[in-house]
Amino acid sequence: MARAKRRLVVVSNRGPFRMQIVGGRKRPVRAAGGLVAALDPVLRARGGVWVSTGDGDLPKDLRIDGARLPYEIAQVKLTRSVAEGYYEGVSNAMLWPIMHSMAATVRMTGPAFEDYATANRAFCEAVLASSKDSDLIWVQDFHLMLLPAMLRAERRRAHIGWFCHIPWPGSDIFRVLPWREAILQGLLGADLIGFHTEGYAQNFLRCVNDLVPAVHVDFSRMQIRHGRRTVRVVVAPIGVPLDAIQTLAADPRVSAEVERIQQWVNNRRIILGVDRLDYTKGIEQRLLAFEQLLRSDRAARNRYVMVQIMVPSRTDVKAYADLKTRIDQRVGDINGRYASAGRIPIQYFYRNLPPPQLYAHYRAADVALVTPLRDGMNLVALEYVACRMQGGGVLVLSEFAGAAEYLEGALRVNPYDVHDMATTLKAALAMTADEQEPRMHRLRAEVHKLDVHRWADGYIAQLER
Ligand code: UDP
Repeated sequence: MARAKRRLVVVSNRGPFRMQIVGGRKRPVRAAGGLVAALDPVLRARGGVWVSTGDGDLPKDLRIDGARLPYEIAQVKLTRSVAEGYYEGVSNAMLWPIMHSMAATVRMTGPAFEDYATANRAFCEAVLASSKDSDLIWVQDFHLMLLPAMLRAERRRAHIGWFCHIPWPGSDIFRVLPWREAILQGLLGADLIGFHTEGYAQNFLRCVNDLVPAVHVDFSRMQIRHGRRTVRVVVAPIGVPLDAIQTLAADPRVSAEVERIQQWVNNRRIILGVDRLDYTKGIEQRLLAFEQLLRSDRAARNRYVMVQIMVPSRTDVKAYADLKTRIDQRVGDINGRYASAGRIPIQYFYRNLPPPQLYAHYRAADVALVTPLRDGMNLVALEYVACRMQGGGVLVLSEFAGAAEYLEGALRVNPYDVHDMATTLKAALAMTADEQEPRMHRLRAEVHKLDVHRWADGYIAQLER
């Protein structure tokens, strides 16, 4: 990649590295997740700084894999009480459910919005301290929606972008937020605002049109006239690091793990679910659909196993702890009813699997059941397809995941309709290799177009214009 003129400033709640004790010594560990995989190589190539929360414990001359990191890290240290209001009170308890169109789950608590603003202000100061006027500043996600306007007030000429990694709801739902206009005004400080799908982008434009006075929204050109500035809105679906996934998935150690998994389930056919534990993921409905299959078809009990990987998340939030209890009970209930000697219907992991093990599961699974009630994109769906290098396998995908806009080769389901899911699951399991092949071929071409490096480069090029 050619070294570009402008320096890049990436701003996100979580950063690319954190200190962790490994083998008795404190070392920097790379954070998991798509954002780091996408933006770390870009920052390495063009130089810049990554601003995120942290304890300030990362060394100045950070060394990763023996070499000095070629970009800076700036950490924003928040007090415990501000961090709680900003992260738990607003981001998790209010913004997350609203943005996923689950207004009934919102918990509105006291003055948390002040903490959210204070945290955004602390980010603003850190960005100002480590950037200059000509830099490209790319703010990430719903934790930092006030930041673009705060930056704009200080840096009139900066190129400021914001990207929404989650869905954007309709204006009738967004207006539930008491400080809806402040949030929208915060975002309008950006020059370029990105979403995964056309639907989210249009919802956003509608919210601005309905809830912000004195703006002009051009829906077809996706532009907002705001004072003397024009804000551009773009559709830029994120993808996965395809080459890296395929290389790792083809590793002989992963192949050995695939065989081990198949033996371990007594060569039953595998239906796979992989999710962070979250009420948006539709895990309970999915379990009910599998139960319906077991109830309606006795032979299914011997033939199929559901492997559900559930990654712990937001464990100290009550809604998440309650959901975990309900899922545990449901899994226990189904296993209690339908298990026979040596055959447990649901194999359930409550932990985070490292990529080699996760990819072995993708390779071993006959069907991936990706059925969120609402999801910005859903990378699991893309990763499953990326790992099917030998072809075959069926992706059953919720129509309410952003990925459904792009993956035409998937079997679509409505995750609220348990009967529909059970019927589609049955159809997926009945598909012959000849029926699976062309669909997977199509899916692989579709996932190829969504490569994450292309996403990052494309967005930055638009921000630079
Ligand atoms: N993941 C992981 N280990 C696991 C399960 C999932 O590293 O045991 C990763 C997975 O590879 C994917 C991410 O978690 O990249 C989940 O992203 P997705 O967009 O599907 O959902 P999110 O958790 O961001 O809502």
